[in-house]
Amino acid sequence: MRAEVISVGTELLMGQIVDTDAAFIAKRLSQVGIDLYFRQTVGDNEGRMLESIALAASRSDIVILTGGLGPTQDDMTKQVLARHLGLPLLTDEASKSGLEAWFSGRGQSMTPNNLRQAEFPEGAIILKNDWGTAPGCVVRAGGKHFIVLPGPPRELEPMMDERVMPYLAALSGETIATKMLKVFGIGESALEDRIEDLISAQQRVTLATYAGFGEVTLRLAVKLRAGEDPEPHFASVEPEIRRRLGESLYAVGDDNMPQTVAKILISSRKSLSLAESCTGGMIAAELVAVPGVSEAFLEGAVTYSNEAKMKTLGVSPQTLQQFGAVSPECALEMAEGMKLRTGSDYALSVTGIAGPGGGSAEKPVGLVYIAVAGPNGAKAERFLFGARRDRGFIRRMAMLNALDLLRRELI
Ligand code: ATP
Ligand code: MG
Repeated sequence: MRAEVISVGTELLMGQIVDTDAAFIAKRLSQVGIDLYFRQTVGDNEGRMLESIALAASRSDIVILTGGLGPTQDDMTKQVLARHLGLPLLTDEASKSGLEAWFSGRGQSMTPNNLRQAEFPEGAIILKNDWGTAPGCVVRAGGKHFIVLPGPPRELEPMMDERVMPYLAALSGETIATKMLKVFGIGESALEDRIEDLISAQQRVTLATYAGFGEVTLRLAVKLRAGEDPEPHFASVEPEIRRRLGESLYAVGDDNMPQTVAKILISSRKSLSLAESCTGGMIAAELVAVPGVSEAFLEGAVTYSNEAKMKTLGVSPQTLQQFGAVSPECALEMAEGMKLRTGSDYALSVTGIAGPGGGSAEKPVGLVYIAVAGPNGAKAERFLFGARRDRGFIRRMAMLNALDLLRRELI
């Protein structure tokens, strides 16, 4: 089975928004063993939409259209699809009353143009939208499956998972179970090197690596017959992979580094405080994004100036004078000072040169010292993130590596 995604929306073409919907759909298609060979992006224009639907239908079995389901005149995906198929649009009474209930539930009156959202090409299977107003639909015609979904990601994503995936799994007659192993501190090629023999020996379970920001995901996948349990298949390779990756394997599943570290802190009942310089609060912001972290995260300070490092963290003037703010000595005093100040179990500090200016031969742009102070003393590590990298890259890498350093202390 071959699928094609058409993302509808002029703002996508203009670069005003990034097409996260298509990326989400692509990931889900691979899970049910459906090939995605083409993606199209088209503006809100009837003629060009007709062209792209015709092209997709000429070469793909499943055409998934996203966006353009709303009430306004430039939302016309279903209308154009109906025209392509030569089908009339009919009002679906259940969707109409659903819309009325949605509006009255919010104390709003419904304008007549909203009824467009209850109209579907004749014969469509309606996909109820519990996350917004516009339902989606599936239309089967000429041996093809046309699937129409709303554009806003917080509607599209649950619609895809709850409504479309069961339909697609039934179509493809198989499911694919996947397991994501998240790896930090080993690059993609080094990782492939370490498991090369496993990759070439792969049978039922296939292995693939994806490079992410500062990390690599190793994806284990296995095609299953209905009702078959994936775990015995994964168990045939996973222990050996874990043995080879050691502590660099930081999570299984979707958790990212901040989520992983927050969960370890919470479950081990350890508290944390932060002293950030070049990351400017980024570590704090990433941790605070994780629900429940209030149990573990006490306080963070952005101590950017030398003055703040002395005043807030008790870094000694001699240290700053002799070694400079970007030094292991300063990083250690920052972490120790913060730990003392807050009484937390652990404190993490970051000080570095994010660039583009401020570097020297001795201390180039991208040089970052990260220290962690804990129950067994403190240690600092030196990182070089690359003199030609931009400020955002260096700051993000510093944030991730700081959390990873703490993680390795905690496990
Ligand atoms: P609405 O009922 O909100 O009008 P819609 O189904 O008509 O939804 P659009 O009008 O195409 O969808 O897009 C609405 C919003 O959804 C866009 O402004 C954008 O924020 C988001 N969106 C649309 N398509 C995508 C996409 N492919 N990827 C990410 N976000 C998208
Ligand atoms: Mg719209």
